[in-house]
Amino acid sequence: MPPRSVDVIVLGAGIVGVSAALALQAHGRSVAIVDRLGEAGGETSFGNAGIVQSDAFLPYLFPRKLAVIVRAALNRDPRAHVRYRALPAIAPALWGYFRASTAGGKLETAKAMAALVGAAGDEHRKLAAAAGADDLLRPTGWIEVWRTADGEDEAMSEIEELRPYGVAPRLLDKAALVALEPDVSDVARGGVYFPEPLTTPDPGSLTAKYADFSIARGGWVEKGDAMSLEPAAAGWTVAAASGRLKARDAIIALGPWSDELLRALGLKLPFFVKRGYHMHYALKGDARMSRPVLDLEKGYVVAPMARGLRLTTGAEFARPGDPPSTAHLERLEPFAREMFPLGARLDPKPWLGRRPCLPDMRPVIGRFPGKAGLWLDFGHQHLGLTLGPISGRLLAEMMTNEPTVVDPAPFRAERFA
Ligand SMILES: Cc1cc2nc3c(=O)[nH]c(=O)nc-3n(C[C@H](O)[C@H](O)[C@H](O)COP(=O)(O)OP(=O)(O)OC[C@H]3O[C@@H](n4cnc5c(N)ncnc54)[C@H](O)[C@@H]3O)c2cc1C
Repeated sequence: MPPRSVDVIVLGAGIVGVSAALALQAHGRSVAIVDRLGEAGGETSFGNAGIVQSDAFLPYLFPRKLAVIVRAALNRDPRAHVRYRALPAIAPALWGYFRASTAGGKLETAKAMAALVGAAGDEHRKLAAAAGADDLLRPTGWIEVWRTADGEDEAMSEIEELRPYGVAPRLLDKAALVALEPDVSDVARGGVYFPEPLTTPDPGSLTAKYADFSIARGGWVEKGDAMSLEPAAAGWTVAAASGRLKARDAIIALGPWSDELLRALGLKLPFFVKRGYHMHYALKGDARMSRPVLDLEKGYVVAPMARGLRLTTGAEFARPGDPPSTAHLERLEPFAREMFPLGARLDPKPWLGRRPCLPDMRPVIGRFPGKAGLWLDFGHQHLGLTLGPISGRLLAEMMTNEPTVVDPAPFRAERFA
């Protein structure tokens, strides 16, 4: 029977919560992770594209050009998909996202995120080595390919923007692309190879392996409902499967579900989700793929995973709880089939995930305003796999009054006050 009182309760066993737990244990804190699934890595952290994108210095912005917005709004641009019935409910969040997506906002977020993003790969390497999960991180890098001259121009301007951050990708003409990925078709006219980032063939297992390491260090993962969190004498308490757990500190790391608990506790943030799907495919014949490839102009990734080739979609704009739809995947699959060696579908239905977002595309890491002992670690948008471990380190340093690896100010919840 585990002890009923610990130093810290972590709510949420995705990559963000598990990483925070490990970072606190490294500071000598006893930790219990509570998740409604009773196991780690079962939700968003299970189904992503598996790129530890330690070169993602520039935030994903809402488009600013009217023609691009109109095309996307009419579902003519496959990079996004809009569920029209959700629009009245999500319009305020999209408006906030649009307003934050200025050139100045982009630079401010890039500056704030630079140290976090830059350290993300090393933080994973350290955790994976300690957790015995090295086999789940591969030094493959990733590729983005273009189909047309417009796509090439877009890629070139992105490279220019990344240069000040020390990102040095390799330009690939058709022959160089074929040398790296022989089974990507001629539809791809060229590409850019980002060699540094690590990738994982199984993000869910990587998260579970990190959780196993937390358990080996004396922690545990228990089934329970975070919505039962209540203040207690000198701390917080939550109802878990084996009874009430108590701790001096609690961390909300519920990914896309964080907002529900925040609102129940009186904190209203401009939170929204960008939903996304995945589907696995068998490889055609004896084809192979060695690393994730982004089809830049169509906005999806095909990544070689333990289960097969995983196609992940871009953003679907819908309410978090809207029923899944096959529409976005159906729009993308024909493009993917002409570019990649996709065989038969391997999943009975598409998997649905939700990227937890704030309009400035920065996570919230730090104190819950006005509530002693309550901490926040969520909103990692497109980069939660990447940023989980380094965010956990930052939060643990704040909670233990150590010097922090980066300035935490840009990540405070109060920035939206
Ligand atoms: C299609 C797609 C592709 C992506 N590709 C990448 C990528 O290549 N690289 C990258 O870095 N990021 C990627 N991301 C983003 C990344 O997956 C997320 O940012 C990250 O997984 C978020 O992790 P998390 O721990 O915050 O949330 P989650 O993994 O969702 O964990 C939250 C946990 O909270 C639990 N929970 C929810 N409600 C309750 C409750 N009431 N009580 C108890 N527990 C509860 C859930 O069960 C869950 O385990 C992608 C996302 C998507 C959707």
